[in-house]
Order: sequence, then C-alpha cells, then structure tokens
Amino acid sequence: MSYLVLARKWRPQTFEDVVGQQSVVRTIQNGIERNRVPHAIIFSGVRGVGKTTLARLVAKALNCQEGPTKVPCNKCEHCTEITGGNAIDIHEIDGASNRGIQEIRELKENIRFFPTKSRYKIIIIDEVHMLTTEAFNALLKTLEEPPEHVFFMFATTELHKIPITILSRCQRYELQKVASRELFEFFSKIAKEEKVNISDWALNIIVREAGGSVRDGLSLLDQIFSFGGDEISDEDVIQVLGLVDSQVISSMAAAILEGDLAGGLKLLDDVTSYGIDLKRLANDLLYYFRALLICRISANPEKLIDVPDQEFDEMRKTAGLHTVESLQLYFNMLLKGAEEMQYSSHPRLALEMALIRASEAGNVIPVTELLGKLETMQSGSVAAPIQKETPPRASVQKPIVQGKTISDTVKKETAVARPPKPKQQKKEVSGDVKIEKPLKEEPVETKTASQPTTEEGTEEPVSQPPTREVRKNWDEFIQYVMDRKKWMAHTLRLCSSVREEGTDLILKFDDPSDCKMLQTKENIKFLTEFSQDFFQKEFKIGITIKGADSQGIINQDGTGPQEERRALANDPLVQMATEVLDGRVVNIRTGPRSR
Ligand SMILES: [Zn+2]
Repeated sequence: MSYLVLARKWRPQTFEDVVGQQSVVRTIQNGIERNRVPHAIIFSGVRGVGKTTLARLVAKALNCQEGPTKVPCNKCEHCTEITGGNAIDIHEIDGASNRGIQEIRELKENIRFFPTKSRYKIIIIDEVHMLTTEAFNALLKTLEEPPEHVFFMFATTELHKIPITILSRCQRYELQKVASRELFEFFSKIAKEEKVNISDWALNIIVREAGGSVRDGLSLLDQIFSFGGDEISDEDVIQVLGLVDSQVISSMAAAILEGDLAGGLKLLDDVTSYGIDLKRLANDLLYYFRALLICRISANPEKLIDVPDQEFDEMRKTAGLHTVESLQLYFNMLLKGAEEMQYSSHPRLALEMALIRASEAGNVIPVTELLGKLETMQSGSVAAPIQKETPPRASVQKPIVQGKTISDTVKKETAVARPPKPKQQKKEVSGDVKIEKPLKEEPVETKTASQPTTEEGTEEPVSQPPTREVRKNWDEFIQYVMDRKKWMAHTLRLCSSVREEGTDLILKFDDPSDCKMLQTKENIKFLTEFSQDFFQKEFKIGITIKGADSQGIINQDGTGPQEERRALANDPLVQMATEVLDGRVVNIRTGPRSR
C-alpha cells in the first residue's frame, strides 16, 4: 500500500473538517442554504490555508446528489468523484501554467456545453493572478454574464495582482492564517489517529514552524513521522527541523555575554556537526538578544516574548546583569552578522566573525563611563598611588600624606598658603609644608612627613612661600597640571606664548580650536586654582587668540568644517583617550552619521 501524504489523507471532506476559517465557512454554508451561491468566488490567503479545499467543498455542496446542500453526503457518485479528483464536470486549472489567452478561449468554448452528468460545471483556477492581462480580459465577458450551469472558483495568494474589473465581479473570501491553537488541536488529533507518540512541546514547535499554514504544518508532520516512526522524541523534532535547542541558544548567548570566545566557537562547532541550519541559529540568537533587551526595557516583557515560563525567568535574570547599551551593542553586532550570512557563500565564517566581534564587544566601555573614569583618575582617587611611586618629587613639590588623595592634599596646601586660621593649621599641618621649593632643587629645609615634628612647632606664623616665575617655570607648571588634569596640560602645551600682566596670567593660542575646551567656566576655574597653587600668586586667567583683540572668553561661533576638524583632532579628550588607550586617531568625521 502506497503511503498517502498527510495533507491529502487529511484534506477536509466536509465543511466541519476545515481547520480555522469559521466565518468564511459559515457565510458559504448560509449562501448554499439560501440558494444564493455567487457564480464567481475568489478565495485569497497565504499558502496552505485551505483555498482550493474550500473551492472543492463548494463544488461538492453544489453537485451532491442530495444538494445543493451545506452538508454534502460524501457518499454519492458526485461527492466521491470530487473527493477522488476525477469528477468530469469539475475543471481544475493551474493558472500558472495555463495563463494565456488561448487556454481561456478553450475554457470558454468548453463551458458553452452543459455538464456531462452533474448539476453544474465548476471551474477552479488556482493561482489565478498568474493569468495574462489578455486572458483576464477574455474572461471578463463570461464573468459578467456567466451561464446558469457554470460556477467559477478562483484561488490566489496575491489578491492585489487581480484586475479590479475581475475582482468586482467576484465574491471575495479572504482566508486568515490559522491560529496556533487550532493548528495544535488539529495536529494532536492527527498524531492520535495515526497512533504516533509526540510531546506537546514538539507539536508546538511544529505549529510555530507552520506559521499559520495547515499544509506546511502537515508536511512537517510527514517528515517527522517518517523519521521517528511511532515514537517521536523531542530530539527527533529538533534534528528533522534543523532546529536549535533553546539550551544551545542560551549557552551561546552566555558565552558572548561573558566574552568567552573559545566557548562560543566550540559550541558553534558542535552544533554545526549536528547539521543545524546556521542561518536559523543566527536568527534564534538574534531573537534571544531581542528578548533580553525587551526584558531590560519593557515593563511587561512577557507580553512581547513568547517563551516557556522557566526560560523567561532565566532571560530576565540574565538581562538584569547587563546594561541596555551593551545589550544593544550585542544585538547590532549579531544583526550585522546575520545580514552578512544571507549573502555570504561562507555563512559559518560570517557567523564566527560575528561571534568574535560580539564577544569582544564586552571589552568596549561606553564613552560616558570612560570619561567618568578619567575624571575620577584626575580628581585624585587613582592618582594618589602614582604619586607614591615618585616620593622624591612629591615631597619637594608638595606634602603628601600617605593614603590621602590629592584633593585632600590640595586642600591642605591651600590652607597653608592662605592666611592661616591658626587652629586648623595646627591640626592639619605637620610642619612640612612651608617648604615649597622649585623643582629639581634639593630640599634644603625640608622635613618629611615621617620626620618627628611637634605639632606645637607649627604654631609660629607660616611665611609666604617663594613665588615662581611664569616664563621660567612654565614647563614645570605644565608638569604640575599634568599630574592633575592630563588633557589640560596637553592644551597648555599648545599655548604659543604666556605672559604675566599684573594679576593676569595671559595665555595666547594661535588657533581658537586649541583652547576651546579650556575656556569653559569650570576649566578656567581649575586652571586658576592650579596657577595660584603653583605660582603662589592670585592669578586671573586670560586667554587670547592670535589676531583677535579680545581676551578672556572667545566667541566660539562660526567655525567652519576645517576648524571643526582641527578642533576635533586637537580635542584634549581625543588626545587623552588616544594616550590612555595607546591608540591613534584614524578617522575624523564632521558630517552627519551615515552607514
Ligand atoms: Zn453527495
């Protein structure tokens, strides 16, 4: 006995058996009951939702011995012939291969004659949108005044390709994709009838893969039944459908998130040896990261993510460990990889590269975070140990109290340099502060912090430390700033000349973009503090630009692209970043971002 594919074996032979499409079925049955079946009907919808099946059922209903009836008997000669596909008065035409005007002319010739033995002649044209314009035109006249003994049933997956003149002469039925629940019930009924053991999980997977198409689902069931026999394991389903187990996906995602490149590549190698479809794998990974992102940003992620509860909980946990930015980054990289795979003749390599990029992405620190870290470094908490490593200079330049941050020390220095509040001074200063010596000179009267000093000794008024000369000590000043604000020191190096004018410290720059960042209120304040501390003079900072009269804050408007480029190249942040990361600037873009 030859094997009958499920799609044929389970083709509905009554309206009741039709899966889904209840409203269309009801309308048709009502029409039959009231003897108001239109002479031209068009069924539209995606493949495998029952278009030709319904057309045949209508044919049966019209031609049944007992009919026309909304419940064809399925026993009479006409019914059984239609079921067997050999009814002489039913003409099934494939629109794709009979699309020309000649075929339509022959058809028109044919329908002039009365049906051979049934009540009606029924013309079913599948894929009717494939007909040529001439063929449609030839059909038009017939559709306007169809003979009483003829019914037309059209089926199409592309309704929009049908000329409106044809559409307006047909009754239209738009078939929906079949709901998952209905497909599931239908498939489990088949499994039961076919005496095949299969889990609900596996059936759900098949339903998902069927994508609302009964026929697609049935052919998947066919494959799986013939592979696994009477006992279908979940692994069988995974293997036949080339599915990737959700466990594999979450493990691979974990490898990416943990930057475990070796683990990720090993997993990929494993699944490849199982013959899993790599494009599907990439797709599933992409959906996994989408789910993580949704978990992270949505208040009700469960509404947007369709996975089992346990899986969902795990996703939620994982998502909570990562920032939205990093999840987005991973997603974008995988998306790029998936796109590359589509066009690559080496999809595996493309996927591997995507995995490598994504795993490396963990090493990428958001710019905001990086800036924050640098700022922290500059404000001292990290710099203190660096100072410790060079005690001689530090002890000369300023007192360092071990374990204290620079900012603490700076405060202390300030307390000393300014007219002292005796009590504070007594407490804070341990006697080693009055000696601010120029760099590189051996401290003469220096007492280090470790030297025993009586606190009482500091009672005597502190003499003003000797001032430094701006021009002579400028390089040392830059070094001083370097220890505190690296980028600012770089900017100071770009300064073309510096001079003292009374209480003003005038910095001259040749290019306005060089000092753009320096000119912010906050940074001027820093520079003022540094210069006061270092030179021990109550300086006010002025900035002049070559060729400009004004001094102080310079008009920053009206910069052209060239200046902008230069400003970007000279931007202290960029310079600092290149220095910190030991990198180099390879590209400057001032235009709008584009791909
Ligand atoms: Zn019948």
